[in-house]
Amino acid sequence: MQIVRSSIQTAKGPQDWFTGDVYIDVVAAAPSPSRVSANLVHFMPGARTHWHRHALGQTVFVTEGVGLCQRRGGPIEVIRPGDRVLFEADEEHWHGAAPDRLIVHLAINEADDDHDAAEWLSPVTDEEYGLASKDHSCVTS
Ligand code: MN
Repeated sequence: MQIVRSSIQTAKGPQDWFTGDVYIDVVAAAPSPSRVSANLVHFMPGARTHWHRHALGQTVFVTEGVGLCQRRGGPIEVIRPGDRVLFEADEEHWHGAAPDRLIVHLAINEADDDHDAAEWLSPVTDEEYGLASKDHSCVTS
């Protein structure tokens, strides 16, 4: 048994992966042979991931706020607390906060020697994200 007290510093989401202000707290980080990692991620309003994919998929569980997610070629979806999103293996996508609301979600990833947890691609442009605010002006109403 190993207890990690609540003393690990919150990490700022790197600009190579995110647009805007994102904060990451590690929830699960067991060493191999475990493949699972989990992070609690806070996205400030307007913040989002870059386009990316997960070789072994990802589950996201929304705990607070209002957010958006989209898979390449699909519609932008509004996600709220209690919603669970499965991004399938290698499905290109992004997720993040609504323009005027933060979101907090638990992100559960898998990785092993042959598969990184994520492969990061290009940023979600303001134009791509702006479509969200137009399409979802009802987010906060
Ligand atoms: Mn993802």
